[in-house]
Amino acid sequence: MEQKRMLIGGEWVEAGSGEWSDNLNPHSGEVICQVPSATVEDVDRAVEAAHKAYYETWREIHPADRAKLMFKLADAIDECADDIARMETADMGKPYNQSSGDVPATADIFRFYAGIADKIEGECLVTPAKTFGYTLHEPFGVVASITPWNFPVVMIGMKGAPALAAGNCTIFKPASSSPSTALELGRLATEVGFPPGVVQVITGEGGAMGSRLAGHPLVGKVTFTGSTAVGRKILEASINNIAKVTLELGGKTANIVLPDADMDMAVAAAARTIFLNCGQICTAGSRLLLHESIKDEFLAKLIPLAESLKVGDPFDEATKLGPISSKQQYDTVLSYIDTGKSEGATLLTGGSGPDDPALAHGFYVSPTIFGDVTADMTIAQEEIFGPVLSVTTFKDEDEAVEIANGTDYGLAAALWTRDVSAVHNLAARLEAGIVWVNCTNIFGPWMPYGGYKVSGLGFEAGIEGLKEFTRVKTVLIDTTDTPTTWPTE
Ligand code: NAP
Repeated sequence: MEQKRMLIGGEWVEAGSGEWSDNLNPHSGEVICQVPSATVEDVDRAVEAAHKAYYETWREIHPADRAKLMFKLADAIDECADDIARMETADMGKPYNQSSGDVPATADIFRFYAGIADKIEGECLVTPAKTFGYTLHEPFGVVASITPWNFPVVMIGMKGAPALAAGNCTIFKPASSSPSTALELGRLATEVGFPPGVVQVITGEGGAMGSRLAGHPLVGKVTFTGSTAVGRKILEASINNIAKVTLELGGKTANIVLPDADMDMAVAAAARTIFLNCGQICTAGSRLLLHESIKDEFLAKLIPLAESLKVGDPFDEATKLGPISSKQQYDTVLSYIDTGKSEGATLLTGGSGPDDPALAHGFYVSPTIFGDVTADMTIAQEEIFGPVLSVTTFKDEDEAVEIANGTDYGLAAALWTRDVSAVHNLAARLEAGIVWVNCTNIFGPWMPYGGYKVSGLGFEAGIEGLKEFTRVKTVLIDTTDTPTTWPTE
């Protein structure tokens, strides 16, 4: 059994406790490797190493030289792209044909932020007479990056690239079910010359260790992507230290189709947004809101399309849906399917895994569509994070907005129409951090996003996302040589 060590202070180490966690392949159900189960003492070691690296080395390195290291890391990721994609697929079941797109995308995220690393500028302020003032955007020092299992390698880029570009040291804590690619990027960062302690990776179960990382007094910034429930715990943990926190949390995206929409485009996108990555995307269009006049025609196209998507071995090139990422998440998805049935929704297709003996040991769920879903049902309110679509109809735009905004989440929405007035009216009224129009799930490092309501705090990506990794210092200089007077004098 392969045992992968974690990266602390430039060394590949075991957990202080000597404990290991199993990493399962969700296709075969077999343990593929073990990683150290880090303890709070290991977290302390990593944070102290990052703190030391920041004050002794990293903050003295010119931003242009930081950028060069980041460009080298991007090239190294591209050179090992195939190995990284295979690790990702074996770890979390994403079809290889999708993982192999995630890896170059991650390299490009590092390039995007490397290009900005030496352009992070403050401002000259308009100050009172005989004074001069300016702002600086300074790093926090130590950043904790806690990431989920749905896009493991991309998440390392989305958090690590802006954190490093802004001049921070960063400690990655990947999800315990998908640690391999974070460790691999740690290895590449070391190889291309990042000083010890600047990039570190600790592994094992979130819980106590994750809370320590989020609440450690030497951590200045916590960036977290994951569920809203754990996001709340991160906020609690950060209270003592008043660490600055960015949270990218859950979603329940409404995908709204007006009667004048291009139906073929909208049908293809409705399937892709919920079944890509097995629905394990925070912005997956899990609620399809159809105008009542087009429901029957739309579903007559969508259901056969969903049934045609190949569910199977993630290393098969034809596969569109691999297994659900872990046994725990698989059980969660099946339990929501049961709830949908018991609350009166109509199961239109799917509901269980394919009847294929080759997949018997994996965590497979076929594309699942529920009709007759009312806005108050559990499957219309809670994030399932699996290939389960709920379909609800509306009679007019007001009702579409009411349903779309009627959950606690506010991460994203999508809208299908050619009516430019409807686009502007609805985009303004939708309570969501992203509104896609005639498209869905387009992302890139160029595009800032952040959840409304319980979907998040702060921003990821874009220049807004970079600013999250800096703190603003104002410097004000009295240019006279006269003593300051009291206000009353
Ligand atoms: P999760 O259970 O919240 O876990 C996320 C990360 O937090 C994992 O590394 C986890 O470690 C760690 N963790 C667990 N408990 C912790 C604690 N008490 N303190 C600190 N860290 C802790 O989320 P997930 O199931 O991995 O991912 C799915 C969720 O992520 C969904 O809700 C999805 O919507 C959300 N997501 C949001 C975005 C966005 O941009 N808004 C993007 C992708 C995913 P373990 O793995 O060891 O438990």
